[in-house]
Amino acid sequence: MTVYNYDMVILGSGPAGEGAAMNAAKHGKKIAVVDDRSLLGGNCTHLGTIPSKALRHSVRKIMQFNTSPLFRQIGKPQWFSIQDVLRSAESVISKQVTSRTSYYARNRIDTFFGTASFSDEHTVQVVSASGIVEQLVANEMVIATGSRPYRPADVDFTHPRIFDSDTILGIDHTPRRIIIYGAGVIGCEYASIFSGLGVLVDLIDNRDQLLSFLDREISDALSYHLRNNNVLIRHNEEYERIEGVDDGVILHLKSGKKLKADGLLWCNGRSGNTDRLALENVGLKANGRGQLQVDEHYRTAIDNIYAAGDVVGWPSLASAAYDQGRSASGNAISAGSCRFVDDVPTGIYTIPEISSIGRNEQELTHAKIPYEVGKAFFKSMARAQIAGEPVGMLKILFHRETMELLGIHCFGYQAAEIVHIGQAIMNQPGSANTLRYFVNTTFNYPTMAEAYRVAAFDGMNRLFTQPEQFSEQHHETTPIEAEASITVTEERHDSTINQ
Ligand SMILES: Cc1cc2nc3c(=O)[nH]c(=O)nc-3n(C[C@H](O)[C@H](O)[C@H](O)COP(=O)(O)OP(=O)(O)OC[C@H]3O[C@@H](n4cnc5c(N)ncnc54)[C@H](O)[C@@H]3O)c2cc1C
Repeated sequence: MTVYNYDMVILGSGPAGEGAAMNAAKHGKKIAVVDDRSLLGGNCTHLGTIPSKALRHSVRKIMQFNTSPLFRQIGKPQWFSIQDVLRSAESVISKQVTSRTSYYARNRIDTFFGTASFSDEHTVQVVSASGIVEQLVANEMVIATGSRPYRPADVDFTHPRIFDSDTILGIDHTPRRIIIYGAGVIGCEYASIFSGLGVLVDLIDNRDQLLSFLDREISDALSYHLRNNNVLIRHNEEYERIEGVDDGVILHLKSGKKLKADGLLWCNGRSGNTDRLALENVGLKANGRGQLQVDEHYRTAIDNIYAAGDVVGWPSLASAAYDQGRSASGNAISAGSCRFVDDVPTGIYTIPEISSIGRNEQELTHAKIPYEVGKAFFKSMARAQIAGEPVGMLKILFHRETMELLGIHCFGYQAAEIVHIGQAIMNQPGSANTLRYFVNTTFNYPTMAEAYRVAAFDGMNRLFTQPEQFSEQHHETTPIEAEASITVTEERHDSTINQ
């Protein structure tokens, strides 16, 4: 058996592993990354974020082609199979693998392909697909082995019509009707993808509201647009039995209902990938969901073993995983150089797209914080009209006395991009976190970013004590603020300000 020595060994090459590896390599450390797949990128690239986002992008293009009058000059609406859109996703995956592989090569990071398990806290054994065993010895270890779909024992995933979010990428026919069991983020995203392809979708939610962590208005908008696109949402339902039959799947619900479809996509929970790590050899134990507990430095109960990404649970996002990985290895290299990732924007790639940061209306009301709301509807914005994307809204929640931004909630075209402008201002210290930024800043026109200006004016127009507040608290009232103040008292329906 060959033995190799490193400063740090990282298990998993998803975003958490990559973040950890790149950071350590930049600090001159000798690094090895192990992955059990023969290509780098992790589940994020091969099964999760990248394929689902590429699928969604293609489906949106198809929807645009089929609904835009512009394209009728060149042909009738066309039907596309799930295989057609899967092929386009494959090309993105392979480009991602190429880019990511080059990062490892450029940074002189050694890669090993095989299943890793601990022999002791400084030694990892790697068994390749062909059975070759290698041993990696290191001062520090980072577990970034990610997660996989949770599979309850009473659901037969060997049945050819029962899928999870991994196996759906291998589906060999386009169903006419599909049941999606689980209405979390992944379930809602796949409901958008399938309904966009014209498939009838039954979306089974075991709660009474879709994505209840969202601002209620945004969650309601998602429900409306999914229904509008032929998704039948069934709330407060739980399965009793899932029966695979020759021509499809029958879902028996505890409520007594029975649904039949050509296929069922299981989107109900994920488990951390810890079962093959031989954690007992280092004295670590995962929880019932296969996840590891870490402290605010991403350190496990064993001093030299860190963990990051989906394997540590919330928020289970690629966006956060990369930063968590970077923080974990940063801390391992030099104690204290670590950012605990607890402020994560929500990016949900349903149709329409949703993104938010900060607190929502329910939370602010519950906390008795005197907030006000400013909104911009995309249907009135030039850029959205040009793009033919009228669905959507930006909603800014701000403190009515201090003007501090408290929450940014957006759905529609480019929502996941738009939210970052608000995030940047919200993260400013002290009084620099202010709604006024948006009225004192010139935005490119026409842009979606301009929604901030429109929403800010809309919110300021709701401050009925605004003229006094401005003259008492803020000596530098700008002409625009003055204009907004005058508008409140004189003309609430002015078309420029009160959009
Ligand atoms: C359908 C879907 C859509 C998603 N969409 C988004 C999105 O839009 N935005 C977003 O931010 N997040 C999204 N996510 C979540 C995102 O994919 C994960 O949060 C992210 O992949 C976690 O990264 P990670 O580095 O922790 O692990 P992973 O990406 O899970 O990578 C872990 C790697 O470790 C390997 N591994 C496991 N065990 C071993 C072992 N014993 N030895 C060697 N290698 C091992 C795995 O095979 C894998 O290659 C989505 C997830 C899914 C399923």
